[in-house]
Amino acid sequence: MQNLKIGWIGLGKMGIPMAEQLINAGYALSVYNRSKDKEASLKARGVEVASTPSSLLAECDLVFLMVSDDEAVKQIFTAENGLFANESTGKIIVNMSTVSPGISKEMAALCVRKGNAYLDAPVSGSVKQAETGTLVIMVGGEENAFEKVKPVFEKLGKLSMRVGDNGAGNSAKLAINSLLALHAQGLAETVLFAQANQINTEDLLTLIGNSAIGNIFGKIKGDAIVADNYSAAFALKHIVKDLKLAKAEGLSAPLANAALATFQNAENKYGNEDIIAVLKALKEK
Ligand code: NAP
Repeated sequence: MQNLKIGWIGLGKMGIPMAEQLINAGYALSVYNRSKDKEASLKARGVEVASTPSSLLAECDLVFLMVSDDEAVKQIFTAENGLFANESTGKIIVNMSTVSPGISKEMAALCVRKGNAYLDAPVSGSVKQAETGTLVIMVGGEENAFEKVKPVFEKLGKLSMRVGDNGAGNSAKLAINSLLALHAQGLAETVLFAQANQINTEDLLTLIGNSAIGNIFGKIKGDAIVADNYSAAFALKHIVKDLKLAKAEGLSAPLANAALATFQNAENKYGNEDIIAVLKALKEK
């Protein structure tokens, strides 16, 4: 696929570093973003910018999406200048956004009707993993399309795994993100409890990091807590979206229900800050 032209739609916190990985790997890339200002840094590097999703699809063999939610995906596919505004066949569209299995199945059916293939391929990992090409990619869709895209996935992630048909990648991602929410709330509650008992936060995080429950997420978010830096790597509003999607897919369990309530309470004030800003909301309670 190295000689194939790749299109990239969605230049947010994740989309920019992921697109940059592909440019660095030598792929010819063309990009599109709804807000034009976010295209500027790539344009300055000589990357082609398409004026609409449909013109991007027309000139590319493979098009990736990394956008917010179901609504964004639907617009990119079906708006006036959306992907299929003009006839395009034989393309593979890879949706890496965290969205519902339902929208993936719907868009996959549309792709097939139009003579194209669709993969849902959401990622685990955040901006740091996107910048270093070490994401974990879970894929739903046809084996054949997965095998064709795999060399590109290998530039974006340390692992790409097909887990089933269209929608299965999204289901796997929602399961993982419900655990992510529990980790974030658990870390925040643990830090606040220790602080209330006069335990130094850095000491606590060093102890956790060296214990059996230490993990990369705790290290990154622990550093953010110590630095009092809550600027979004993974915006808190996105975990509310993901927990709602998981609930709609049938997740109704004691911890998941509590996490949804906690993050929903925090969303109004802290939705655009990082997921670990849940600590500030819990502290205020
Ligand atoms: P972000 O920074 O908020 O960027 C969102 C992107 O979606 C922007 O390019 C935005 O365009 C576009 N978009 C939103 N609504 C749109 C619409 N109606 N039509 C067209 N484009 C639209 O989000 P992000 O953090 O990169 O996350 C992207 C996806 O990856 C989300 O599904 C998120 O849950 C998932 N994810 C994020 C992380 C993370 O750590 N950040 C990790 C794993 C997965 P504009 O620039 O015009 O607003």
